[in-house]
Amino acid sequence: MLDSSRSDLERHGVVPRRSDSLASDLLLPDETLEVRREVRAFADSVLRPIARELNCEPERRDGFRHDVFDRMASAGLFAIPFPEDVGGRALRYPTLATLSVLEELAYYAPGIASSMYDAQAILVGNTLNQAPPALRGEFLPRLVRGEFVASFATSEPGASTDLSVRSVQTVAHRHDEGWLVTGRKRWITNAVAARYVILLCRTGDALSLLFVDMHAPGVSVSDPDMKMGNHAQLTADIEFKNVLVPHHHVLGEIGAGLRSALGSLVLGRMGIGAVGVGMAQRAFDISSHYISHRSVFERPIAAFQHWQFRFAEHAMQIDSARSAYQRAALLTDRGENAEVLAAMAKVMGSSAAVEMSRVPRTGLWCLRAQRACVRSVTVNYAVRSYRLVLTLFCKRRILSASAAMRRHIRSLWLWGNSNEQATNDLRRRFRSGGRGSHRRARANRKQSHSTRHLKRTRRPRRDTGHCGKAIRTARRRAPFDHRPECRRADQGRCA
Ligand SMILES: Cc1cc2nc3c(=O)[nH]c(=O)nc-3n(C[C@H](O)[C@H](O)[C@H](O)COP(=O)(O)OP(=O)(O)OC[C@H]3O[C@@H](n4cnc5c(N)ncnc54)[C@H](O)[C@@H]3O)c2cc1C
Repeated sequence: MLDSSRSDLERHGVVPRRSDSLASDLLLPDETLEVRREVRAFADSVLRPIARELNCEPERRDGFRHDVFDRMASAGLFAIPFPEDVGGRALRYPTLATLSVLEELAYYAPGIASSMYDAQAILVGNTLNQAPPALRGEFLPRLVRGEFVASFATSEPGASTDLSVRSVQTVAHRHDEGWLVTGRKRWITNAVAARYVILLCRTGDALSLLFVDMHAPGVSVSDPDMKMGNHAQLTADIEFKNVLVPHHHVLGEIGAGLRSALGSLVLGRMGIGAVGVGMAQRAFDISSHYISHRSVFERPIAAFQHWQFRFAEHAMQIDSARSAYQRAALLTDRGENAEVLAAMAKVMGSSAAVEMSRVPRTGLWCLRAQRACVRSVTVNYAVRSYRLVLTLFCKRRILSASAAMRRHIRSLWLWGNSNEQATNDLRRRFRSGGRGSHRRARANRKQSHSTRHLKRTRRPRRDTGHCGKAIRTARRRAPFDHRPECRRADQGRCA
């Protein structure tokens, strides 16, 4: 099952990791470097061969990769964040090591990193680590050994950013044997495979956390959400209909659930920052490998200064996102509040991933220009203008380049094309772009023919609405339904 017929290895060859030469390990203690080496070897051997499958296959109800989960458990990855008494590794800097694990896993499979590590080990694991001793002792060692999959549920159809008591609609009522829960949670990672869920719900006028067995009567799970990406992270709705939760499954005190949930969510935020860094680093490595090997005009693309600027900017962005999550983790490991840095790390990491994979506007202009040139002018001319576009790329910075390029390309067309009609055609096509633009341009030309007459000759007089020769000509040429009416009484003259 772990073999894939079309791995990214086949498509890209061996892509060197640029982080080894571009990033500094200054902040990382030896134990973290050791964990990183170990997880990198795991990711190279287990995730890399199936990365394409994990990242591209659409969500299915039975799509949770238990095989990957089991291999992570047997490699001891779930032990990294936890202390020795529950079977953990008892690291001095557990948060830093945990986030390094996330970056390494996300390098090949961000969905696996965020569902099987961020949600499982950080959100659920950290909350269980703070739970009352009985609950912690019963479930945390099992989680460390990878005996069950778990979920962490706060979001609802009408509440997520806003987790206030008035917004949360999942309610637990006290009962003799425990709490009866009714409500619906949305977007819950791992819901389709989870055995337990940590649930934030309303108990009276405060919020509490309950540890709920997903096999209990009254719990049902929807089909997974079909997302645009990140397919290996399965999210779904969970519905609770009078589900009985025993008293000893309350995590912490009744009414103190929000504080506890937010504590775990801060760690989760750092985790998503690290996932973003892993994704951005992989995209950076693949694309810098590509531009170093692909040549245009007898030079590798990487030799053009524009791309050197762009990749320098990406490298800076990735490096600052990485140090943001590392500093947030170090603060947490020192027992200090890292809430602000965690939020920054999440924004910086996810932005780095998005920016790294964004198609540049300048690139789109370039493609459009190239397409218009190739279709309408000679091949030689197209090659010449493409070269000039590339030269322009190298001289200007990203944002100013698109406007400048537009001006430049227009002047090129005017200069290179003696046929005025063809030039106008091209200009119109460039402005409108897309399919059917050629037909639109021809329609424009036809229309402009009649309006040109109107402009050059006499206009209808406003007082009488009577038109002269020009309007009569226009009427004859215009399509039947659009012929302008003459308001003068003796219309016969105009017919
Ligand atoms: C892949 C994935 C996995 C997830 N996994 C889980 C999970 O395991 N458990 C879980 O509980 N949830 C999960 N979620 C849900 C996630 O936590 C929420 O989507 C997130 O908190 C945002 O909430 P929302 O979707 O309700 O957005 P809303 O609260 O509706 O916000 C939408 C937008 O409104 C604007 N907005 C909202 N509030 C403000 C404000 N105060 N000021 C200015 N603008 C504002 C912002 O632009 C915001 O982005 C997951 C979501 C995704 C996409």
